[in-house]
Amino acid sequence: MDDSKSQSHGHIVMLPFMAHGHLIPFLALARRICRQTPFAVTLATTTLNLRYLRSTMSLDDDDSGIRLHELPFRSSDHGLPPDTENSENLPLSQIATLLHSSVSLAAPVECLISNITAEEGRPPLCVISDAFFGWSVDVARRLGTKSIAFTTGGAYGTLAYLSMWLHLPHRSTDAEEFSVPGFPERCRLHRSQLHRFIREADATDQWSKFFQVQLKLILASDGWLCNSVEEIEPLGFDLLRKYLKLPIWAIGPLVPPDMLQKSSPISPNSKSKSLQKHTGKAFGVSPEKCLDFLSSHNPNSVLYISFGSQNTVSPSQMMQLAIGLESSGKPFLWVIRPPLGFDIKGEFQPGWLPPGFEDRLTRSKQGLLVRNWAPQLDILSHSSTGAFLSHCGWNSTMESLSQGVPIMGWPLAAEQAYNAKMMVEEMGVCVELTRGVESQIEAEEVKRVIETVMEEEGKGGEMRQRATAVMEQMRQAVKEGSDDDDKGSSLKAIDEFVRTILGDSTNGTFPFLQ
Ligand code: UDP
Repeated sequence: MDDSKSQSHGHIVMLPFMAHGHLIPFLALARRICRQTPFAVTLATTTLNLRYLRSTMSLDDDDSGIRLHELPFRSSDHGLPPDTENSENLPLSQIATLLHSSVSLAAPVECLISNITAEEGRPPLCVISDAFFGWSVDVARRLGTKSIAFTTGGAYGTLAYLSMWLHLPHRSTDAEEFSVPGFPERCRLHRSQLHRFIREADATDQWSKFFQVQLKLILASDGWLCNSVEEIEPLGFDLLRKYLKLPIWAIGPLVPPDMLQKSSPISPNSKSKSLQKHTGKAFGVSPEKCLDFLSSHNPNSVLYISFGSQNTVSPSQMMQLAIGLESSGKPFLWVIRPPLGFDIKGEFQPGWLPPGFEDRLTRSKQGLLVRNWAPQLDILSHSSTGAFLSHCGWNSTMESLSQGVPIMGWPLAAEQAYNAKMMVEEMGVCVELTRGVESQIEAEEVKRVIETVMEEEGKGGEMRQRATAVMEQMRQAVKEGSDDDDKGSSLKAIDEFVRTILGDSTNGTFPFLQ
């Protein structure tokens, strides 16, 4: 890292929660800050997460301004299995333990900020903390720096998540549908949209004990950065601003810049170019095989299926999904991993699928099964990908919409059901296939929804048009411009964030801001 850069202009410390869905956008935000400002960035996390970040970073200019800092953490001290520092390696039931354990990072973070202050003669400009790290607000304040929250979710989903945990509104009614503080009546939620952990939460369980404390603390930040785009979810930003009463900067989408260029970076004729050379993950099959499969099909004809980095469905749901997919006759590429109740990283057993399923798919070329992990960015930006059956994790959502790919929603955890709701009701880019791991989804229903979404005209066509419009808004938001009138809204939001963290110290002159 260029140390003179940090000393002369300032330094930002970033603290992601230990989950891939958080580390990925944090790294992307660090890259964006380094590209758009003269500040140095220190990204601090635990040993194994740091190793993951390092494996995804390149030594080129993109990452040269980012310093990685290791925060000491011993999982066994917190009742976690040895060498377990990331939610991906844990059963869902133990993620609350990981969340609670993250509070222990306060002391090493305090040390890091004090050391930067001693070395540079002034505190960092701010600490950008994961919205789960409410404890960091006090640490930042005490050490004379600003505290900025970063939500890796969208505005609507973040508000719903905050409000649900802070108010537990479903506890004060027996009704199936209930209103959520911060949302208008028309945005009521249904109990089936709640993950079991929040449905059963009563303020004394370990999930509530973490979220009710940490989310309340993070509300006292000096401002919030949000990985979304102002224009694609105006309702979400309006409501979130009213609720938080703080500056909120929409700085997304934090997807690789290649994915936001005018034409799709991966066309059937440029198969060898992979966006995901450095994911630090072993792919189930090579990116080339995925791209060959996609290239053998027509534009917009393939359904891509993936449930993110840490979710899977139940054995019976998996079976019905497989039967429905095959009987739809539509081409599909499915990232497949063991169903619920089995080791998600374990060997895949053919008995979880209909007899002869994979052989038939290979012979007919209807489908490709990819074990565990696929090059998602390459797949979504390929012109043959026509829709995404997704758990509606926010990164997957941003990646899909940035390519104009509509979504078949199957929300499973966290704020995914709220993302799906927003995409169905506000954006019109999604239909929900089902919800959660307890639903009794039938193959017939899978087939029907696939046919609806993949059709060129009708509902499928409309969704594709809406998704294309959202894609345009996302690309516009990150348009570089020579002055403020030209610049996209997300780049302007970064400038505003910079003005806020610099405060009065520069007398209003920011040579690097236009
Ligand atoms: N991902 C991937 N290949 C896979 C599954 C996931 O590259 O086979 C990436 C995906 O591109 C996204 C992230 O993992 O960036 C998943 O994040 P998301 O917020 O969608 O879901 P989460 O994993 O947090 O539930």
